Amino acid sequence: MNSSIISEKDTRDIKSMTLPELTEAVKAMGFPAYRAGQIYQWLHVKLVRSYDEMTNVPAAMIRELSERYPLCTAELKDRQVSKIDGTQKFLMGFADGALVECVLMKYKFGNSVCVSSQVGCRMGCRFCASTLDGLERNLAPSEILEQIYEISRVTGERVSHVVVMGTGEPFDNYENVVRFIRILTDENGLHISQRAVTVSTCGIVPRIYDFAGEGLSVTLALSLHAPTDEKRREIMPIANRYSIAELMEACRYYYEKTGRQVTFEYSLIRGVNDQAAQAQALAALAKPLHAHINLIPVNPVRERDYQRTDEDGVRAFQKKLEKRGVNVSIRRVLGRDIDSACGQLRHRHISE
Ligand code: SAH
Repeated sequence: MNSSIISEKDTRDIKSMTLPELTEAVKAMGFPAYRAGQIYQWLHVKLVRSYDEMTNVPAAMIRELSERYPLCTAELKDRQVSKIDGTQKFLMGFADGALVECVLMKYKFGNSVCVSSQVGCRMGCRFCASTLDGLERNLAPSEILEQIYEISRVTGERVSHVVVMGTGEPFDNYENVVRFIRILTDENGLHISQRAVTVSTCGIVPRIYDFAGEGLSVTLALSLHAPTDEKRREIMPIANRYSIAELMEACRYYYEKTGRQVTFEYSLIRGVNDQAAQAQALAALAKPLHAHINLIPVNPVRERDYQRTDEDGVRAFQKKLEKRGVNVSIRRVLGRDIDSACGQLRHRHISE
């Protein structure tokens, strides 16, 4: 477990510090340890935007904190609200001009936020808009947290679920994402249940093993999208690095180690991966792992030539899986009237 090592992390980034680290920093500044608890609460529970709001912290300490530890806060740049289902999409900016998008979705079980883990992405999946402009940089833990915090501030909504399914490959920014999850689920912070957190990966096999060993009870979602190596390589470059057999072995390990059922995400693309034989092959992969399959009619992206499977086709595909005893759900299409496909809003902004 490497999360206590401040590796690629900015040591001046106070919002990316765990409470024990913040306690050390406060002591090093010559202030009593209990001040760390107060500051941590202002940052991660009360979600203040500035030190000046920390009314129980002495002025001298606030002055020193502001100098040493400039606060990372997200700035809302754009907001789209779906008239169909109330889904809200946000474009947020950081100090260096980096732009990321995140989404608030309202479900019966609570409010779920989808966060980005990187600025852009270098995985190159053929159907995805997030990768069109390449990878700009990784996001710090504080910047992933801020997406949730800023959504809470501007909407006043309580967030109960978090999915790391926005722009970026979380396992290409592994240390920061793990640290983000630890702070997000810390009982001294927002205290989101680990079981209410999902991390979605395109399948970086060694990181799946690492993640299984973090001692977290988080759901792992694997973006599978094709049941054979040949087909998967056509649409996902990462498939040239890791085979489906290796992926399945890693998922089995994750399931056995954490007890958490793995989800396979499968975006249905007309004529590409929606044939009956593919449903059969997919069922054969999911069955032994007790994996849950999430079918997503692909969101057509203007720059890409893929079409979504029509409703009947999706239902037929689902039936074929169910007939083989696989647990399937069809992702409800939310925010159809806003730029809801991964990376669309940001891509439109940078292109303009
Ligand atoms: N990099 C991670 C997480 C980000 S993408 C991953 O690959 O899992 C979140 C999910 O949305 C992935 O399953 C991704 O394959 C899928 N996705 C991306 N673009 C899409 C589109 N245009 N239509 C449907 N699903 C898409």
